[in-house]
Amino acid sequence: MNPEIFSANKFNFETDSLSKNALSVISRLHKKKFKAYIVGGGIRDLIEGIIPKDFDIVTDCEPKQIRKLFKNSRIIGRRFKLVHITFPNEVIEVTTFRSGEDPQSDSIQINDKGRIIRDNKWGTQEEDALRRDLTINSIYYDPFSEEIVDYTGGIKDLENKKIKLIGDAEKRIVEDPVRILRVIRFAAKLNFEIDLEIKNAITKHKNQLLEMSSARIYEEIIKMFLTGHAQKTYQLLQEYDLFDLLFPHIENSKEDFNEFYENAFKNTDQRIEENKKLNTGFLFATLLWPKIYLKSGISERIKYKSFYRNIASVLQKQQNITAIPRRYSSFIRDIWMNQIRFKKMSKKSINFTNSMRFRASYDFLLLRNSLEKNLETVINWWTDFKTANYDKKVKLLNEYRKGLNEKK
Ligand code: ATP
Ligand code: MG
Repeated sequence: MNPEIFSANKFNFETDSLSKNALSVISRLHKKKFKAYIVGGGIRDLIEGIIPKDFDIVTDCEPKQIRKLFKNSRIIGRRFKLVHITFPNEVIEVTTFRSGEDPQSDSIQINDKGRIIRDNKWGTQEEDALRRDLTINSIYYDPFSEEIVDYTGGIKDLENKKIKLIGDAEKRIVEDPVRILRVIRFAAKLNFEIDLEIKNAITKHKNQLLEMSSARIYEEIIKMFLTGHAQKTYQLLQEYDLFDLLFPHIENSKEDFNEFYENAFKNTDQRIEENKKLNTGFLFATLLWPKIYLKSGISERIKYKSFYRNIASVLQKQQNITAIPRRYSSFIRDIWMNQIRFKKMSKKSINFTNSMRFRASYDFLLLRNSLEKNLETVINWWTDFKTANYDKKVKLLNEYRKGLNEKK
């Protein structure tokens, strides 16, 4: 099959944002007479007018040889070997053309469900193109010849704003169900339309996502929700009945969490726009809050112990679907436990406002308002309290106590 070749000039993208390191790697490979291209998000985003997050390189040079050509490199990968070349400010990932998916070949293993479990055979550029996931992720760009090589109609689909899998959508999703999340992620990021064939395949096979490694699902969740397209991702996950699959909530609950999530993810995206930091723990605290809320509720009479137990069980159950690295669980637990402290104003509140996770806990309290609706008084009180100096804090606490007594 002959690829379509385009001249990069046709798209007049910003070559300024090309990584110098990526260029130097490609140039070195060219000098040694290898083919080398930028592929995937690097070129897709450039054409779309987005600054790429990284530049993946693909070549016909094999990992061992790449390793020899670049001192600062190492071979990594279990499922598939590739090379990382380390520069002071970035790591460039270089992969070798992968072979077509031939179930007969002994280097590709397909299990009885049709899923790839191991493949590691080098192939031609065409084979490499056909085994990528989306047509728009299979565009090759040689920055020196300024040539764009397209085996799968990726350029056309970029122009038409279409998310299409290469080949038979159903087969590609069964091979690797994580592609479902990739489809959603790129549709959300680029605001593209998902092909009907994919829609049907997702409906049919979405449960297979639960059989995938929880670490891979976790990685995708992070990319989906922490890169500025959380709200759109959330909407698509709902549209495809994937959200409840990934974050199962208490069955038959009549509560509607939609507004809570919409609001939370709008905030998340806004923070990215304002270049503010996002915290993975905060994301999971948000994603899973409805479960905690339904299980425990937050009232003055809440029992710390049972609340704590609920938290542990919610986190543990979620681990089976999306791994949550241990370093985040204590953050999540603190944010949730702290919600109780907002209900109990006392001398201890002064220390609370100075504690490390107060700020995040307070932000979380604000989020809760779109779900629980009755938090305005509490929020207003803490908003005043947190910015007050010590004397003012004591005064606010006294006033609060007086108010309580008067009520009695
Ligand atoms: P970004 O880096 O912006 O998230 P990307 O398209 O570069 O997007 P990566 O996860 O970096 O995504 O993967 C690089 C390329 O590898 C993809 O563009 C795609 O061609 C291929 N690829 C990644 N994951 C899969 C997969 N599960 N199945 C098939 N091809 C894949
Ligand atoms: Mg990439």
